[in-house]
Amino acid sequence: MKNLFRQAGLDEPIVHALGEMGFETPTPIQEKVIPHILQSSEDLIGLAQTGTGKTAAFGLPVIQQCDLDSPQTQILILSPTRELCLQITRELKHYSRYLGTLGVVPVYGGASAQEQIRALKSNAQVVVGTPGRVLDLLNRGKLRIGNISRLILDEADEMLSMGFKDELDAILEKAGSDRQVLLFSATMPKAIGQIARRYMNAPVEISVGRKNSGAENIQHICHLVRPRYRYQALRRVIDAHPGLSGIIFCRTRRETREVSEQLMQDGYSADALHGDLSQSQRDIIMHKFRLGHLKMLVATDVAARGIDVNDLSHIINYNLPDDPEVYIHRTGRTGRIGKKGIAVSLAHPADTGKIKAIEKLAGKTMEMQKLPDARQIVENQILNYTEQFARAGENQQGQPNLQRFLPQVMEKLQDMDREAIIQRLISLEFNRLLSDYEDAPDLNADAHQNAGKRKNGKDPSGNKNASPGKSQSKTQRKNRSRRKEAREGMQFARLFINKGKKQQLDKRGLMTMIGHKVNNHSIEIGHIDLQNNFTFFDIDARYENQILKAFKNARFNGTPLKIDRAKHQPHAT
Ligand code: AMP
Repeated sequence: MKNLFRQAGLDEPIVHALGEMGFETPTPIQEKVIPHILQSSEDLIGLAQTGTGKTAAFGLPVIQQCDLDSPQTQILILSPTRELCLQITRELKHYSRYLGTLGVVPVYGGASAQEQIRALKSNAQVVVGTPGRVLDLLNRGKLRIGNISRLILDEADEMLSMGFKDELDAILEKAGSDRQVLLFSATMPKAIGQIARRYMNAPVEISVGRKNSGAENIQHICHLVRPRYRYQALRRVIDAHPGLSGIIFCRTRRETREVSEQLMQDGYSADALHGDLSQSQRDIIMHKFRLGHLKMLVATDVAARGIDVNDLSHIINYNLPDDPEVYIHRTGRTGRIGKKGIAVSLAHPADTGKIKAIEKLAGKTMEMQKLPDARQIVENQILNYTEQFARAGENQQGQPNLQRFLPQVMEKLQDMDREAIIQRLISLEFNRLLSDYEDAPDLNADAHQNAGKRKNGKDPSGNKNASPGKSQSKTQRKNRSRRKEAREGMQFARLFINKGKKQQLDKRGLMTMIGHKVNNHSIEIGHIDLQNNFTFFDIDARYENQILKAFKNARFNGTPLKIDRAKHQPHAT
């Protein structure tokens, strides 16, 4: 059978390594870029996102053309993050497995420079680095790029948005004039054009379209939920997809921390990835995630940059991002080459404008779905468990260790019939889930008026021409009146808390904190009077004692937090 990688001009040792890695056919960007690099010295701009196979697109031809008899650095690859550097290095090492002694050296900040300098002294034909560390090593004379044949800028837009413009300029200045520049970017901001004009020579442009090749495999689902129930909605999504492994994107570090802590408390396999973590903490989390010991990463966009995990079943947007490009970036991490992926977004009814912008950019319609209900969730879990159970049985039968204990087990269960055993097993396993979902409330925000009417691609507000601004105020009005109705007849208690604006308490933070502490995000909170150093707030009186108890010995931003019953109580509504 014809091998299309061989046809593209790649040599046997590389084709063989690709075969072992399961690469059967080149992706569209590889089809275009590999022959260009092998045959031409012209500069190139490749418009492609992560997940399109662009690392192999530039990596395969450049390693093929390396002079293995010379230990000098011939190729410099710049990439925005440490993770991406390591990922590129790993890939190149795999591809060059049968090539002989090709040295690929990653250099990045946040780790000892000494070891990297030592590695650069031996075989370092290819150097993969972050701009800051590369410039540092250049300035210290530890890395020489005057004679490189190729300079590759990977994820150039990310490097610019991370503030590496000056470093890139300085590195490009230092690279000798006789080098081919290959620039890859998912988007084309103006600053890329400037780099191209200044440092590239009439570059050829190659584009594989806006969407990454995996985008076709991604199912985009959107649930409209009331902000207050966002966390519970997240739990429903997770519970409805047993075996889910993915990233939950949050807006802020604080939200990342809150959501991950709450998930852990609720028994989920999750951890946070945010900017406050040290490199080694981050490494430990990523290691666990890669091994599959950790199922969910809760991350901000910045912290998730360069995460090199390809087997994600789900991307969950805890909120929809303001920028549709960010949505495309996030969700492009699932549904990678040949695999199916699911992107689930928890949106607010007022997010119509954002949803439309995303649909336009992705060229796909979001499926507006109701949140999975209790029945669906329990059914999915039980069926998944049963399947696993049936499969595990096949492997376990021959276990000699197990055989030893079986007679005692059989004896204990001898009076129970098959049905009773199964029933007991299932109920033991699912007791908590079943009770959690007993009488579970409907968390869909205005499901009938919004989600239902979106069929045929119409605006969720039901008004084809409604501007986002208009639909927002209409929805807000509706939400206000719904909340008012819910409060009719409710008895409120007023509580005092010894924190206020000066201690960075805000209304949303207060509501989230209460929800987390008492493990119930649906407690009705009424008026909140936020002052500089203290706050009064009204709360569904049925939960007063529970809240007072939960906050005993509590702390807020490192200082003691006190909640007491206020002297003046509200009148009943
Ligand atoms: P990238 O866009 O370079 O991050 O690549 C995404 C993933 O696709 C990586 O895990 C690659 O190993 C894999 N990959 C790249 N090219 C191919 C191919 N032609 N066939 C199958 N998998 C590929």
